[in-house]
Amino acid sequence: MDCDYLVIGGGAAGCIVARRLADRLTDEVVLLEAGPSDEGNPRATQLSRLDEQDDSYDWGYNARPVHGGRHAIGYPRAKMLGGCANHNDCAFIAPFASDLERWVELGATGWGPADMASHLANIEESIHIESSPPGNALSRAFVDTARKLGLAERDFRANPGAGCGWFPLNARGDLRQSSSIACLHPLNGLPDNLRVLTGITARSLLIENGVARGAETDKGVISARREVILCAGSINTPQLLMLSGIGPGMHLQDMGIPVICDLPGVGENLLDHVAANVACELGKPCPPWDRTPCEAIAMRRIDPAAPAPELLYHFVLTLREKYRDRTFYDGSVDGIKIAPNVTRPKSRGSLRLASPDPALAPNIDLNYLSDPEGHDRRILLEGLRFARRLAQEEPLGAWIAREIHPGPQVTSDEDLLEAALESCETVYHAAGTCAMGARDDPRAVVTPDLAVHGIDRLRIADASVFPDMVTVNICNTVMMVAEKAADLVVQSA
Ligand SMILES: Cc1cc2nc3c(=O)[nH]c(=O)nc-3n(C[C@H](O)[C@H](O)[C@H](O)COP(=O)(O)OP(=O)(O)OC[C@H]3O[C@@H](n4cnc5c(N)ncnc54)[C@H](O)[C@@H]3O)c2cc1C
Repeated sequence: MDCDYLVIGGGAAGCIVARRLADRLTDEVVLLEAGPSDEGNPRATQLSRLDEQDDSYDWGYNARPVHGGRHAIGYPRAKMLGGCANHNDCAFIAPFASDLERWVELGATGWGPADMASHLANIEESIHIESSPPGNALSRAFVDTARKLGLAERDFRANPGAGCGWFPLNARGDLRQSSSIACLHPLNGLPDNLRVLTGITARSLLIENGVARGAETDKGVISARREVILCAGSINTPQLLMLSGIGPGMHLQDMGIPVICDLPGVGENLLDHVAANVACELGKPCPPWDRTPCEAIAMRRIDPAAPAPELLYHFVLTLREKYRDRTFYDGSVDGIKIAPNVTRPKSRGSLRLASPDPALAPNIDLNYLSDPEGHDRRILLEGLRFARRLAQEEPLGAWIAREIHPGPQVTSDEDLLEAALESCETVYHAAGTCAMGARDDPRAVVTPDLAVHGIDRLRIADASVFPDMVTVNICNTVMMVAEKAADLVVQSA
């Protein structure tokens, strides 16, 4: 099979890239997705039915235990059209201007707040966004308590910053507004020049004399006359590059893979939001929630000079969250969780192949809370202390019977940190493993035009190109990357 543009990975970014290219160009575009279609499948498309998605919708990754912790952190990555945007909680907040300014400082020329305004506006136009209604009395109690402790209630969609309030959701009622649903459905109404192929997995890229020519898949070769655009996400994109001989040369040699391009940054700079939590048993029944158990959030700034809040607290109305490790609290208890996360962590993880076999999962080392300056530990400790204050203060305190994790016996900084190290969780925001940077930056994998260093006609457009973490949940920023990527491809067509 052949086409002009081959987009690999039909997730949050890939669906947007493919649709924009097909709309703006007359060339043939193929969007390749390993998982099944989401269309007509309410378990994938309805936000309230996330718990009904079974393992066949996920790649089934586990990350290495953190700091000798007792638990390997489950690392869900969706395998279906729509990608993790059909797996997620639909929390949807645009990046802070200061996040994009930092990207520019790191070499991402052309990605500043003014440059990205039109791309963010495109998302607002094509992705329907709603606020969680402030209906649940327990979530309301969280917001009222946060206000009592000094945080102003704010509209995080119109005006993000320190404060408390309701999550904006990329949803229309219970229907997710993932990029497949918003930009591709109905699949039988797509432009003639766009083919969406599901259930086909790319195993490696076809590179001839330093030029990307397509991909080898489990169902044969797909050739691309003009460009290959990798949108397989922060885990699978670097994996696919390495399987194709593009990555850290020594590592590829160790794996017995011929080195086509020695790019040391591939698989480095793994970013994620790390969270700890205060989990409490409720003394009275939790009122039903609307679409998602995480309706309310708070953001706090610790250092008045910080460009944006250093902490984001998710308030979760259940201890029975899908994908969560239950080692540290009894998931059968009726309870709530206040989960502070470090918004701009300084620790960096990495990703390496475990085998040259594309069917085997890569090694994922999150390396949470490891930065030598201790920034991430300090912020998380501060986050835990404030989470406890929230749980103890009225009106939230009136709902709570007892703290079950870390537990009232854990009081010193050392013990609290130990509990955080042992039980820390992912916020599922893997990013940065093929980071964008200046053209002369040896650690950068892509240029500010998203072109892969050393290989022609190959770009990356997904969460893996983030040079650094953004302060908020990242899906909106991923879609922004996709919008800009489509513009870059069209400009060079
Ligand atoms: C459980 C969970 C909850 C989350 N909650 C939120 C939230 O509430 N708010 C938020 O902002 N963010 C959230 N996120 C993060 C957000 O959804 C992701 O950051 C975002 O979807 C990443 O987009 P992407 O396009 O980079 O990758 P993905 O959306 O992961 O898409 C990659 C796609 O590529 C496909 N693919 C991979 N390899 C191949 C291959 N070899 N061949 C063919 N296809 C391939 C995959 O199957 C997948 O469909 C959550 C993530 C998870 C997992």
